[in-house]
Amino acid sequence: MNNLELIKKLESAGTLTHCEFVQLLSTFTENDLEFARKLAREIASKYFGNKIYIRGLIEFTNICKQNCYYCGLRSENKSAERYRLSKDDILSCCETGYPLGFRTFVLQGGEDSLFDDDLMCDIIHSIKENYPDCAVTLSIGEKSKESYQRLFDAGADRYLLRHETANSEHYSMLHPKGQTLENRKKCLFDLKEIGFQTGCGFMVGSPHQTFDTLAEDLLFIRELNPEMVGIGPFIPHKDTPFWNKPQGSLELTLLLLALVRIMLKNVLLPSTTALGTIHKRGREMGILSGANVVMPNLSPIKDRQKYMLYNGKISTNEEAAEGLKLLKKRIDAIGYEIVTARGDHPEK
Ligand code: SAM
Ligand code: SF4
Repeated sequence: MNNLELIKKLESAGTLTHCEFVQLLSTFTENDLEFARKLAREIASKYFGNKIYIRGLIEFTNICKQNCYYCGLRSENKSAERYRLSKDDILSCCETGYPLGFRTFVLQGGEDSLFDDDLMCDIIHSIKENYPDCAVTLSIGEKSKESYQRLFDAGADRYLLRHETANSEHYSMLHPKGQTLENRKKCLFDLKEIGFQTGCGFMVGSPHQTFDTLAEDLLFIRELNPEMVGIGPFIPHKDTPFWNKPQGSLELTLLLLALVRIMLKNVLLPSTTALGTIHKRGREMGILSGANVVMPNLSPIKDRQKYMLYNGKISTNEEAAEGLKLLKKRIDAIGYEIVTARGDHPEK
């Protein structure tokens, strides 16, 4: 089969074989990419029209006990200037975001032991009490099933935990010994079982990634059937072991976004900050490849520079209101519209 036929097969059958994915990823042409992006846009528009959901991202701590080789927040990076927000700081980010139209708040951070289950549940309760019409998404790493259950019972709606790679050998090249793919997958299946709208995902072009590991990623995504998928290019950070590795490819990232849209149809698919970092129109290009979510930053301006996962991460000094106004303009210009809505997965 040629690549255009493979893309059509992915649409109708909902998956491809490992070999077919490898063929498509390793031999796609500009024409194949444009075909996949157009089909992905049509599918997104069938489920979401021209609507783009916004999520208010609150990067509430950059303190992390993990040591992922790719990330600027890793515990062994002694040059990072560490910070954490208080519960009041977090609530005031929500207070800024709500009148701007945010109806989802994403609490993202390193694995910071200070934010134990009691404190997280207390924060979630308060957000839900003050903003009962809003969703809370967590992105705070690996935990036991019991902890996830407590967070869910406290009112959290969604959980983002990228699987990073579905190949265990590759996983061990991205993480130190104690961190395993087995546990990462267990966490993801636990989250699904508990009832969270669950997000997995990976970086495109992470060191030692191959077309084979990417095919495994797509097959794992098919198997997990998540409600959200986060895909962005790998970008090196100067104070990590991967400081001299090349960044991920724009075209391959766009193709993978399109393929995930074609495969999962109604998935919530963000156009990531990392994509916006490697190209000034990256976020628009992501939307034009089937993405339907953007996650503007609601964190205090003074701390944004410190949440530095990779070199050059876009962190504007605009207030949230000003940043959103600019983003709306850019999204309008490509024929899409930012909406005020929780933006749940259509089946949840
Ligand atoms: N600590 C939580 C976790 O790991 O799930 C949430 C925060 S973590 C910084 C969020 C995501 O950032 C990771 O899943 C990873 O894929 C991405 N990330 C980390 N370092 C990156 C880099 N150098 N380039 C691109 N993305 C990166
Ligand atoms: Fe910590 Fe997440 Fe960065 Fe890994 S990716 S070092 S868990 S913040």
